[in-house]
Amino acid sequence: MSFPRDPRANGTGTIGEADATAVVRWTGTLAGLSDADRAALIERGSAHANPVLARVQATVEGIVARVRRDGDAALRELARAFDGVELDALEVPRSAITAALEALDPALRSALERSARNLRAFHNAQLPRALEVETEPGIRLGLTSVALERIGIYAPGGSASYPSSVLMAGVPARVAGVAEIVLCSPPDQSGHPAPAVLAAAAIAGVDRVFALGGAGAIASLAYGTASVPRVNRIVGPGNAYVAAAKRLVSHDVLIDSPAGPSEILVLADATANPTRIARELLAQAEHDPLACAIAVVFGADLATAIARALRDLLAHDPACVERHDIISAALRGQGGILTAASLDEAIAFANAYAPEHLLLALADARGALSRIRNAGSVFLGDGGSVAFGDYMTGANHVLPTGGWARACSGLSTLDFVRTTSWQEISAGAAARLADDVAWFAEAERLPAHSAVARAFAQGEFAASHAQPHARAASAAAARSQPGTKEQWPQPLRPRASYAAIALYGSDRAPCEIDLSDNTNPFGTPPAARRALRAAPRDAARRYPSAYSDALRRELAHYAGATPEEIVTGCGSDDILDAALRAFTVPGDRLAYMDPTFSMIPEFARMNGLEPIAVALGPNFDADADAMLATGARVLYLCSPNNPTGTLVSAQAIARVVAGAPGLVILDRAYAEFSAALPLAGIASERLLVVRTLSKAFGLAGLRIGYGVGAPAMIEAIAKARGPFKVNALAERAAIAALTHDQAWVAAGVRAVLRNRRRFVSDIAALGFAPLPSRANFVLVPVPDASTAAGHLRTRGIAVRPFHALSGVGDALRITIGRRRDLDRVCEALASFAPAHTGALSRAVCP
Ligand code: PMP
Repeated sequence: MSFPRDPRANGTGTIGEADATAVVRWTGTLAGLSDADRAALIERGSAHANPVLARVQATVEGIVARVRRDGDAALRELARAFDGVELDALEVPRSAITAALEALDPALRSALERSARNLRAFHNAQLPRALEVETEPGIRLGLTSVALERIGIYAPGGSASYPSSVLMAGVPARVAGVAEIVLCSPPDQSGHPAPAVLAAAAIAGVDRVFALGGAGAIASLAYGTASVPRVNRIVGPGNAYVAAAKRLVSHDVLIDSPAGPSEILVLADATANPTRIARELLAQAEHDPLACAIAVVFGADLATAIARALRDLLAHDPACVERHDIISAALRGQGGILTAASLDEAIAFANAYAPEHLLLALADARGALSRIRNAGSVFLGDGGSVAFGDYMTGANHVLPTGGWARACSGLSTLDFVRTTSWQEISAGAAARLADDVAWFAEAERLPAHSAVARAFAQGEFAASHAQPHARAASAAAARSQPGTKEQWPQPLRPRASYAAIALYGSDRAPCEIDLSDNTNPFGTPPAARRALRAAPRDAARRYPSAYSDALRRELAHYAGATPEEIVTGCGSDDILDAALRAFTVPGDRLAYMDPTFSMIPEFARMNGLEPIAVALGPNFDADADAMLATGARVLYLCSPNNPTGTLVSAQAIARVVAGAPGLVILDRAYAEFSAALPLAGIASERLLVVRTLSKAFGLAGLRIGYGVGAPAMIEAIAKARGPFKVNALAERAAIAALTHDQAWVAAGVRAVLRNRRRFVSDIAALGFAPLPSRANFVLVPVPDASTAAGHLRTRGIAVRPFHALSGVGDALRITIGRRRDLDRVCEALASFAPAHTGALSRAVCP
């Protein structure tokens, strides 16, 4: 996409002199920058690093050598000299860390805890997964990852303390599984680091804290002393001495990527608010006189407006008073407001500049994001501000500066793990690899390599009891027959997450009276049956419409929606599964009310999600707060609920929808048997209502389910679901049923409700206490579901047993069938009733 050229955006006269030149160093057009200016912008990293390094190098070398030689004694002397304190113990006792947390201002504590929570969520998702690949038959390779054993964090102190830095390093290390996290931070006059730093250490889960600062702290972490343990990696920001010490010890211990003064680059178009951009530049500039703050904008008007806002805020805004000189120095030294003639030019500059923070204040920021190669972190959205990323969003604020984003990434979970590859080579594969390995080895003049490879080819290492001629024969066979059983195919392994999934196995053995699956007891609706019988000869020859468009229109009419709000599937099972695929990535969590539809945790596992059961609240209602507290990406509600038959209140649904971070599924498979839900008030772009023709419509065998939701959501689910999932005959019959059979369906529902009332009162008279059902089944608690179901089965009746349901215990789910069938159930239950056996004494209520 190109922006129209603004005649004023090129050449001279871009920003009024008075507006900008006094405030920032660079103005004018990107194209108009001299080679020297361009180099100063792009090569800024090397410009500041070297002089600093040269100045402090000698001092730091001396300190590091002293700590290596004298250990704790040197550290004590350094604390005396630089921090002006006499340290008894170098390590801060646990009690002081806990006390700092307890004494922390509750508002600050809550902010730190929120930040840690979000960091945990984002960095958890970055954990690497084990992988296994077969590169050739018989060669299996894998990668496993392990956390570093011990890491060190440096948190600056002195004039200012940065608890956020402790969280940014500590939380990812903990998430990665680091066994021991050590923190060094300089002491104040109390002999301990700043209280906020100690409190952050407690929240992040730091194991040990040392009151040590500067180059001495880095040396102690790198080489260890009697008190300070040696670590495998050192991370965290610090002043020039700390940075120089880290560079020095980097020959012996891993450090993080280089970090210099903060920087921001803003790309803004006409949709941007000039004051917002100015505030963003000021916020970055207040970090350091060497901070960089550049805006690249489209149009001289916007450039002028930003320059004016910058000048006014700097002169009059109270927020600029305390750090006025730092801000002015930064803007005059490294600030810029430049105009670009096109988005292409602006993005090319951003990629060359490789900023620590890139703010996209653009109408199509998402579109631009996909073209950004080099940046530490990119901010977009109406609330996009670096301030949020610095503290709260959960992204890491330790980011590459000075153009290092061309090669480095920000701090992440991966900084605290390492991987080990493993290689499993079968004897057959070894025999087939040997010749090529020998060629390589001989070319590199490593004859012992070649010899060991050829020994495999000659079968020298085949099972030791085999005779030499038999070994040679088997090696020759392995070389000449790549398809032998030992090599290929290797055992076929399903996804690891499938190990926890049971093959679906409801008891489908034929039974005289089957009340086990909540299907319609009155048969198939007449118009649907006619449509199936009268299908044209050609009906099955061609593919049906890819997304069942005609059926979508009829379902939309039935459900009070538009066709764009409907997606059809092979049963509502298909909709549930496709919705999970569309809106989650493996590793996400799915929280569901428990008990509920038993396939839900299975669908979650099938998609690599972690299912989380949330017990029902009072009156069998969903516990909205507990579900939201899981932070799960998908929240599943079912009303009327299977197997309890109970309803989720409209308030609970509204609450879940209002607070959900991701997709909310409301399963209404049994909607026809309960009152209509006033969903209009809680319709939301994240709410998917799932329905089916399997129950009230008597068409379970056709396998037609559908989802109702906002068009964008529906399109995503249709993509995940794939085309042609509703077959041509099913589509015909379903359309006929929706057009002509609704009176039949309604009569069936009325009969079910009548029969349910009577059945519930009959079994209550026997002493059972069924749950208050609003569906075409009732859940009846029993002491032992297997025995009870077996008892009914011997009398020709199939029902569904449930074991140890949360808040209910064992129970039978009995589909409401025809009157005479239910009378048979009552008869069978009578001989088994608690009134006779005294078995059911427990009141049922979660
Ligand atoms: N949701 C619920 C609550 C169910 O009970 C069932 C089936 N028993 C389904 C969805 C799936 O139904 P179908 O795939 O037949 O539409």
